[in-house]
Amino acid sequence: MSYSIKTIGVLTSGGDAPGMNAAVRAVTRAAIINNMRVKAIFRGYKGLIDGEVQEFTSQDVSGIIQRGGTILKSARCAEFMTPEGRKKAYETLQREQIDALIVIGGDGTFTGARDLAQEYNIPIIGIPGTIDNDLWGTDCTIGYDTALNTVMECVDKLRDTGTSHERLFLVEVMGRDAGFLTLNAAIAAGAEAAIIPEREAVAEQLKAAVGQGQRKHKNSSIVLVQEHAVEGGAMAVAKVVEEHHPEYSPRVSILGHLQRGGSPSAYDRIIASRLGCAAIQALLDDQRNIMVGIQNGEIAYVPLVKAIKQKKDIKQDEWEALQTLSI
Ligand code: ATP
Repeated sequence: MSYSIKTIGVLTSGGDAPGMNAAVRAVTRAAIINNMRVKAIFRGYKGLIDGEVQEFTSQDVSGIIQRGGTILKSARCAEFMTPEGRKKAYETLQREQIDALIVIGGDGTFTGARDLAQEYNIPIIGIPGTIDNDLWGTDCTIGYDTALNTVMECVDKLRDTGTSHERLFLVEVMGRDAGFLTLNAAIAAGAEAAIIPEREAVAEQLKAAVGQGQRKHKNSSIVLVQEHAVEGGAMAVAKVVEEHHPEYSPRVSILGHLQRGGSPSAYDRIIASRLGCAAIQALLDDQRNIMVGIQNGEIAYVPLVKAIKQKKDIKQDEWEALQTLSI
């Protein structure tokens, strides 16, 4: 039992994700009920360096569970990647008498957390918050389910117009280096194909998708393209289609940042609430430098270094299901 932890700091970092507010609320309330003080740090690591800190009460997190984005704001901070930047961050922690830090974000956030923890021996707990779902050691990350539903709804709408005009739509989906969002949105929306970085031979994937549409006389085709699966994204894929399949006149739709927005789904609110409580419990259990994740529906503690280093792969059965169902 960590009697030494009297004050925790909490921040959100990296890309914002729906459900981060629910996690901030849960961390705050779980800490307060366990007699810890809570210091909210604004603008991620940038705010930690600059000392943008405010003490939070339970009321400060009222009415935020349903809100997208993050009330703590987020920022990308190059200075934190340097030892000098992290020294300044540590000085803020000392000045504010913060004994442990909870960071909500993706693998970049956790990499910075690992470095800070190693250099200054401060307990840090990571909560996975990213729409990309690309963290090893957790079945899902906060924001992924909401983003998945957003992409699915957008594709449903595009299909309406695609069908009316008998068009091929290429829809560009976010995900950094990972194809989870693209692949599962493709399954959920009944798309003809998904082009993702985890599977090579993009030309083959495309040929199969376009060829299938012709064979079956489909009156619309939808192909989801992960933003970094091909250099140039969906626009580049459109050029290839125009070159090799002049019978198509593909339309490109880049969903962009609307994928990050919106009120979090029930599922994201629930996992954010559970993970926020679990992060405080982890500190009480004397855990250090771990990510709290969800494995087979249960809370799991995963070393930060493993969450960062190990690569989560897409599920082969999901990939095969998409191929099977798009005939
Ligand atoms: P998302 O997956 O949504 O993009 P993320 O947490 O991976 O989230 P990043 O922008 O990669 O987002 O990282 C957030 C912040 O973490 C960076 O702005 C930087 O301050 C810090 N960070 C990232 N990589 C490192 C690193 N290698 N060393 C130290 N700090 C880092």
